[in-house]
Amino acid sequence: MRREAGKVWLIGAGPGDPELLTLKAVRVLAEADVVLVDDLVDRRVLAHARPGVRIVEVGKRGGCRINSRASTPQAFIEKLMVRLARRGATVVRLKGGDPFVFGRGGEELTALRAAGVEAAAVCGITAGLAAPAVLGIPVTHRDIASGVTLLTGHARGGSGPDWRALRATGNTLVIYMGMTRLGVLVADMLAAGFPSDTPACAVQDATLPGQREIVAPLAGLPRAVAAAGLASPAIVVIGEVVRLASVKACAELAPRTA
Ligand code: SAH
Repeated sequence: MRREAGKVWLIGAGPGDPELLTLKAVRVLAEADVVLVDDLVDRRVLAHARPGVRIVEVGKRGGCRINSRASTPQAFIEKLMVRLARRGATVVRLKGGDPFVFGRGGEELTALRAAGVEAAAVCGITAGLAAPAVLGIPVTHRDIASGVTLLTGHARGGSGPDWRALRATGNTLVIYMGMTRLGVLVADMLAAGFPSDTPACAVQDATLPGQREIVAPLAGLPRAVAAAGLASPAIVVIGEVVRLASVKACAELAPRTA
């Protein structure tokens, strides 16, 4: 039986491997009347939706075309969710990873609340934690890194992070959307005093069958990534914990000095 007023669920679909969905995501997906799905979501996840459910592709590549633009504008997505929920639909907005980690989930929740639409989020496993985990890299470690910082390599307005301040934390750095500007990011980090042999890695399509990774000293990462042909979507991890990665390429890192 259908509620009078609908509801919107912002659901994190995890990094790719459908087994990394939460049980709650699976349950809510099965209740959905409409699913708005982003590019980065592995389509096998949709197997949990009801047969005949309406699927709306709203990603950057495969998204609905409005004014001949390939990506679906954010405002359109928000309006669509509001309209569907007001008609009584249970709407699932399925996003890659976690909806609140570089996923614009915050903006969508604000817009839904402002429109008086009931909305809730279901967290997902973010790519920035899944990618190091599949390589056996603990992003924090009692002896090596007391914290982790999640960053975007593609900040709005183009201003980069305060690398000096980040270096001072000693935290593991996890960079999303860093591939297209990797050379600039690494040059800025080296200029800010990061040692050139800081262990670093890039993981493309983490948790998916086509996963590829490269481990290299920070200064050599852009060249190694280019040589291996790695591209988006990929996560870059920087810090001593990368030495614990269980990939052969680790041999390229200089031995840790006691
Ligand atoms: N909300 C998502 C992030 C969206 S931003 C999350 O929590 O994971 C998009 C960026 O996420 C990509 O550019 C890439 O840096 C990263 N990403 C998403 N899925 C990935 C995957 N399977 N492997 C590597 N990186 C991934």
